[in-house]
Amino acid sequence: MLNPALVKERMPEQDPELRNKNFSEVALGYTPRQAAAEAKRCLNCKNAKCVAGCPVNVPIPQFIEQVAAGDFSAAYRIIAEQNALPAICGRVCPQESQCEGACVRGLKGEPVAIGALERFVADQFLEGSPAGNPAPERKAQKVAVVGSGPAGLTCAGELARQGYGVTIFEALHQPGGVLMYGIPEFRLPKALVQKELDKLRLMGVTFQLNVIAGKSITIDELFEQGFQAVFIGSGAGLPKFMGIPGENLNGVYSANEFLTRSNLMKSYDPASPTPIFVGEKVAVVGGGNVAMDAARTAKRLGAAEVSIIYRRGEAELPARKAEIHHAREEGIRFQLLTNPLRILGENGWVTGIECVAMELGPPDSSGRRSPVPQAGSEQVTKVDTVIVAIGQSPNPLISQSAQGLAVQRWGGIVVNKETMATSKHGVYAGGDAVTGAATVISAMGAGKKAAKAIAEYLALAESVS
Ligand SMILES: Cc1cc2nc3c(=O)[nH]c(=O)nc-3n(C[C@H](O)[C@H](O)[C@H](O)COP(=O)(O)OP(=O)(O)OC[C@H]3O[C@@H](n4cnc5c(N)ncnc54)[C@H](O)[C@@H]3O)c2cc1C
Ligand code: SF4
Repeated sequence: MLNPALVKERMPEQDPELRNKNFSEVALGYTPRQAAAEAKRCLNCKNAKCVAGCPVNVPIPQFIEQVAAGDFSAAYRIIAEQNALPAICGRVCPQESQCEGACVRGLKGEPVAIGALERFVADQFLEGSPAGNPAPERKAQKVAVVGSGPAGLTCAGELARQGYGVTIFEALHQPGGVLMYGIPEFRLPKALVQKELDKLRLMGVTFQLNVIAGKSITIDELFEQGFQAVFIGSGAGLPKFMGIPGENLNGVYSANEFLTRSNLMKSYDPASPTPIFVGEKVAVVGGGNVAMDAARTAKRLGAAEVSIIYRRGEAELPARKAEIHHAREEGIRFQLLTNPLRILGENGWVTGIECVAMELGPPDSSGRRSPVPQAGSEQVTKVDTVIVAIGQSPNPLISQSAQGLAVQRWGGIVVNKETMATSKHGVYAGGDAVTGAATVISAMGAGKKAAKAIAEYLALAESVS
């Protein structure tokens, strides 16, 4: 029977005053009763707009129907056909602008909580049977995947499922990309990511860690080693800086370094060989998910006061609404319409940040209203730490070392949007390395598209050999 409630079942969460001092997950997940009640809000639309809003086309009404009926295994099988990392997507996808943004129940009241239901189904499966599917019969052809973020993992999984030998080459000492080193534990528990990686290992995917493509090995050398195709999913890990005075002082971090040290190097543990200095007062510059993650991490690492400094207003904040809400609940302050001019220091260490107030002017060519500085409004605030979270771009290491690989002026690899084929024969690319910083699901969508094209390319190569 349809549940007519206009609002979603609320997912239980840790109390903000407790959780801003620990790294355990904030949102605790639905109980089976809550999941069934929420599933019964779905109208099972014939022309389901939510599916069109999903970049990997999960058959949403079909899986939700199974949740309502209490058959969680059937629900999982339906999701897994289209989405290789549902426990991750259920947690971090921007559903409000994708499936839930298109859900008809959102026309009057709140949309169905599709993300929370996906997370529930995936968690049930991972708890019950973490192993996943064993490797199918192996084909002779081998594919090299560079980078182990969601793009590389999805491409590898799709190809391994079809029997191709897949080796992932990863620069860091742990696989998972931003899922491991960027998004913090309190939003995405690393044990979950490990379970997804184990599923790939079981399917026969192998990992070569601490291998930097473009430095330890070139793309051409991968072909010489016997790989017949290469997928580049190397992400956009090169941090941008503001180019203002004081950015080289001690106490200034890129969000990338700060989060990597906290997540991968376990710097939140005082016994860690790579401790991190946080100080009492922290300014985080930027308004996206990365800025929210850095601010909330700084708070958990013991900072007394953490502020987000963003040059546009509330409505323009690019972070997910849920992340902004959680950050506010945890005591993060927001200094909006504010732009840093310089970072001040003494004896090489940060002591303050000078900012100017901004006003939104007329829209620019992108349609966004440009912030305009207000003369005479300059002010210095005392801080010990500044974290810069204003974006990342693709690292040029691979493109500079791979002859014939065309890239955009800003560093993104040029691909055919249908096949993800690059200008270099047998080389495909996808994810942030192509688009610049984007989302987990779009990286997965690109990995999936590339895997399909690679399989067709390899089948053709075999048929003519
Ligand atoms: C802090 C943070 C929070 C985010 N929050 C969200 C969110 O809530 N929701 C969302 O949808 N998206 C979020 N994103 C964005 C999302 O994580 C990325 O869009 C996505 O991870 C891109 O996937 P990818 O596979 O292209 O690259 P990545 O995840 O960046 O993985 C690339 C991998 O390639 C490796 N690599 C790089 N160069 C080389 C090389 N030369 N040789 C070998 N390996 C190499 C890297 O070490 C890395 O492991 C967030 C990003 C960050 C940084
Ligand atoms: S649009 Fe909303 S109500 Fe309709 S099938 Fe999708 S989730 Fe259910």
